[in-house]
Amino acid sequence: MTRIRQQNVTAAQWSANGEALGAIDLTLPENDAFGANVFSVAVQRERLPGDVFEKLQGALEKGEAIDPATADAVATAMKDWALEKGATHFTHVFQPLTGSTAEKHDSFFEPAGEGRAMAGFSGKELIQGEPDASSFPTGGVRATFEARGYTAWDPTSPAFVLENPNGSLLCIPTAFASWTGEALDAKIPLLRSMDALSGAAIKALKLLGDSESTRVFTTVGPEQEYFLIDEQYFFERPDLISTGRTLFGAKPPKGQELDDHYFGTIPERVLAFMMESELEMRKLGIPVKTRHNEVAPAQYEIAPVFENSNVGSDHQQLTMRVLENVARRYGLVCLLHEKPFAGINGSGKHNNWSMGTDTGSNLLEPGDTPADNAHFLFFCAAVIQAVNKHQGLLRASAADIGQDHRLGANEAPPAIISIFLGSELEKVFDAIESGSGDPHTPASFLNLGATVLPPLPKHGGDRNRTSPFAFTGNKFEFRALGSSMSLAFPNTVLNTIVAEAIDELADKLEEKTSGGMDAAEAVIEVVKESYTANKQIVFDGDNYSEEWHAEAEQRGLKNLRTTPDALQEVLADETIAAFENYKVLSKRELESRYEVWIEQYALRANIEAETTFSIAKTMILPAALRHLALIGEAGFSALENDLRGLIDELVTALDALEKANAEPTDLEGLDLALFARDEQLAKSAAVREVADKLEKVVADDLWPLPKYEEMLFIK
Ligand code: ADP
Ligand code: MG
Repeated sequence: MTRIRQQNVTAAQWSANGEALGAIDLTLPENDAFGANVFSVAVQRERLPGDVFEKLQGALEKGEAIDPATADAVATAMKDWALEKGATHFTHVFQPLTGSTAEKHDSFFEPAGEGRAMAGFSGKELIQGEPDASSFPTGGVRATFEARGYTAWDPTSPAFVLENPNGSLLCIPTAFASWTGEALDAKIPLLRSMDALSGAAIKALKLLGDSESTRVFTTVGPEQEYFLIDEQYFFERPDLISTGRTLFGAKPPKGQELDDHYFGTIPERVLAFMMESELEMRKLGIPVKTRHNEVAPAQYEIAPVFENSNVGSDHQQLTMRVLENVARRYGLVCLLHEKPFAGINGSGKHNNWSMGTDTGSNLLEPGDTPADNAHFLFFCAAVIQAVNKHQGLLRASAADIGQDHRLGANEAPPAIISIFLGSELEKVFDAIESGSGDPHTPASFLNLGATVLPPLPKHGGDRNRTSPFAFTGNKFEFRALGSSMSLAFPNTVLNTIVAEAIDELADKLEEKTSGGMDAAEAVIEVVKESYTANKQIVFDGDNYSEEWHAEAEQRGLKNLRTTPDALQEVLADETIAAFENYKVLSKRELESRYEVWIEQYALRANIEAETTFSIAKTMILPAALRHLALIGEAGFSALENDLRGLIDELVTALDALEKANAEPTDLEGLDLALFARDEQLAKSAAVREVADKLEKVVADDLWPLPKYEEMLFIK
């Protein structure tokens, strides 16, 4: 195969190709398409008969089921609206345990006799999708003879129409469960965890003197990183096609060391792609806000305004899909893998998280009054306590085979979970702990008693980019997520463990006040006790440094380097207890997740190892042999000997990998995952090492794979 270099990149080509640029009006405010394809509350109000609308909203507010007559009316309105938008099919979209998005399309049209068709869509079809999807992995929850799960409309996340040049599709956000009521998806536990947190937080708020709030929502704002490469190169790389990352590739002469890409000007083609993606997202009601270049060449970031966790999580799945789809219209491929290129920064997804009341206050916002600050310190202490207690589980929630090249490798963030509070806030907590503070900080007033708590510093201002879990002014930013991951499980974990900690702190608060202690003083006491017991998790230094890794070990913090290590935390006693107490996931449901995830790891590792073998054996080895013949002909024996040495190494490494890939059939579960990690992936790495050396000596025109400098720098 001859590689085509530096083609396919002119503006003329990409605009002609996808008829993209110029075909759409991107920015005019009067054309703002925000939510145009969403069956939003506003559309519902306009389209539904008044009483049906009231019933639907009422049921949503109270979290109650919708009666069949209401469902029918909603279905009819939704269908008519979707047909007007060009939809021909509908689908219930859900997130199976693999973390991706699943859908099965059904036509609205049914035969109506005499060769005609009629559009139909009933309440039953809306509320309960086709009970099928039996081949999704369920980790043993649903034995195959039971065969069926069912999907149920999640009315809290609005339906939307997804456009395609050849028609449109009505998408109905859906939850997926087994007939015995067990969650088979990522959505149900997320919704349950939001309820759990709301219950705990409302109880605590009452004790703290807030009797107005009736519901607390968790919020999420994800910052998504991704790479863009020319699609030409993507299709010339079987590793990118099969695994999403390059399994080979020598370090280019120019990488990211010049830092000339970060926040740099966005190339025109890329900008056009971004604008069109954002337009598509706005139509879908995704509130996209920021875009910029990232640190690595060819790496970019997009972030929306935050939303309630369940909606934000659905929107994040859609965002990834839109990025991948729209990239193709510009002759680009969007790589969402955590580590597409070795030696170049990988991609993560920062999960900004907070809690807000239905009366409009952010519980993690330091306030102006002593009472507000007492709230803030209480909830902040709860987060610190939760993260310390469940550090292993949080790490597990970010585990994924792609992540093993980032977490615990020489890259951000580390596999050790710790919290960065910022120096101002840390001083406040330290002062509460010691009962006395530095007179030059606000904390100094604390020893005078809680009722004179001064205004806390808003937006501590200082930043620590190396922390996996950082307080950033009015929210926590969980930075360990991988770029391809669903937000659902990490947020399910956060909500559940913080609900537990809030309850624990609230119980102590109640105990103290019922023993006669002044309410404000009791809050400070509770915060003090909790912080003292959990401050080992707080760290404000450089998380990448060797010293920190040593210190963390001394502190007894967990350092779970790989996915198989981390996933075991899903079945830790304290995990099961927390999830069962809050009815978020039963032990059986947790076990099924663990089984699916550990199996996914082994399967994906196996695909990587097989792909490594096949590329090295059928593409790289032949190229090296051709080059050997070339220098043999030219009669350069010194060069020939060196090359023979490398080829020998490659052949040996390939033999070892081939043996490892002849997978032992008696292993399963964790054992199989560990085998995949320690044998298949280790042997693959050895093959890559020699292959990358060969890339540096084999004639460029003989090398069968696009090189890093081509993929990274051609825009
Ligand atoms: P950064 O400085 O890290 O780039 P930004 O201020 O741009 O942070 O915000 C990053 C993300 O945090 C955005 O997606 C934003 O919507 C989100 N965010 C802001 N406030 C909250 C909140 N209360 N809850 C959840 N996410 C939030
Ligand atoms: Mg950020």
